[in-house]
Amino acid sequence: MAARLLRGKALTNLFAPSSSPFSKSSFSVQRLISTLVLGEHEGGSIKAQSLSAVVAAKLLGEDNSISMLLAGSGPSVQEAATHAASCHSSISQVIVADSDKFTYPVAEPWAKLVQLIQQKGGYSHIMATSGSFGKNILPRAAALLDVSPITDVIEISGPQLFVRPIYAGNALCTVRYTGSAPCMLTVRSTSFPVPLTSANSKSDAAPISQVDPSTFGEDMVCKSKYLNHTSQDSERPDLGNARIVVTGGRALKSAENFKMIEKLAEKLGAAVGATRAAVDAGFVPNELQVGQTGKIVAPELYMAFGVSGAIQHLAGMRDSKVIVAVNKDADAPIFQVADYGLVGDLFEVIPELLEKLPEKK
Ligand SMILES: Cc1cc2nc3c(=O)[nH]c(=O)nc-3n(C[C@H](O)[C@H](O)[C@H](O)COP(=O)(O)OP(=O)(O)OC[C@H]3O[C@@H](n4cnc5c(N)ncnc54)[C@H](O)[C@@H]3O)c2cc1C
Repeated sequence: MAARLLRGKALTNLFAPSSSPFSKSSFSVQRLISTLVLGEHEGGSIKAQSLSAVVAAKLLGEDNSISMLLAGSGPSVQEAATHAASCHSSISQVIVADSDKFTYPVAEPWAKLVQLIQQKGGYSHIMATSGSFGKNILPRAAALLDVSPITDVIEISGPQLFVRPIYAGNALCTVRYTGSAPCMLTVRSTSFPVPLTSANSKSDAAPISQVDPSTFGEDMVCKSKYLNHTSQDSERPDLGNARIVVTGGRALKSAENFKMIEKLAEKLGAAVGATRAAVDAGFVPNELQVGQTGKIVAPELYMAFGVSGAIQHLAGMRDSKVIVAVNKDADAPIFQVADYGLVGDLFEVIPELLEKLPEKK
């Protein structure tokens, strides 16, 4: 275990000026630990990953007051706010920025919003999950607030003490934050699973505060422009949250052959993953990439076909509960992390599996 200390100024200025940008006077933060969680939403619901950040925030301290910040425009953000207010018992307040400036999740206005909310709320911590949403916004907001963020946290050992992987997950680094407030973190959602009992279990809804739109200055208009959003329409589970992931590597040789992996995933009700080599070869889109520069997953079952097990790939899946690997090279590094390994040709093994597995009902 390597240890690194981030040096900086003493933790000061926990509490911020009193003038409030919120239309409800209920918004005031006067606790030692108070956390602002950046919430991601879609179709009027909070994404499961954002609730992992709430789980992580709770580990900062039992009496941590957790506020979730949502931004968007119109009914969908308001619906998401209603969902956030009642979906997790640890959320004590929901703050909503409803403006056409936030119709799309563009990082620059979001970062300025976080700065604005922090200046008025004086949170001790600001958190997001390590997905593309959090990784896009949090460093920009940290630059505006002049603090150094700590990314990819996998363990909270105290309000200022965190563990994060380094060298593609081959070593763990314990970091003590000694900079000024706020302490800004991105956390890996796979390391902070949301217990089923805490989600959707709240009887009394948390208060919802609307940010006064007149506080959004013209400087929220930024140089980046939202153009469009493309994603695969698929009935398969989301790669980041799936219980089972079936991954194919370069050995599949073509996009046509990769369809075997997709068929197997369909039969198992699994998400499809791919190595960077398979993505770079154009077999599948890069949103399916698992690994250091792709998605981090930790499903109950991870099946890897024709995957060598490079450290950059292992960095994204080594926390899976059960790992099954099929590779024709008995010395492939993937077998070092696999619970079950089969030395064989995937072009024989997958058709046999497809034949023997029952159809998904
Ligand atoms: C900065 C950086 C970041 C990276 N990030 C990522 C990342 O996020 N994710 C990622 O995956 N990689 C990443 N990589 C790339 C990584 O180093 C590997 O190159 C990549 O993971 C290899 O993919 P692969 O296992 O599909 O291919 P290969 O390494 O070529 O392995 C193919 C495997 O298939 C086996 N095989 C061949 N034919 C068959 C068959 N018929 N049946 C069964 N087995 C067969 C072979 O024995 C071999 O083990 C990154 C690299 C760098 C430098």
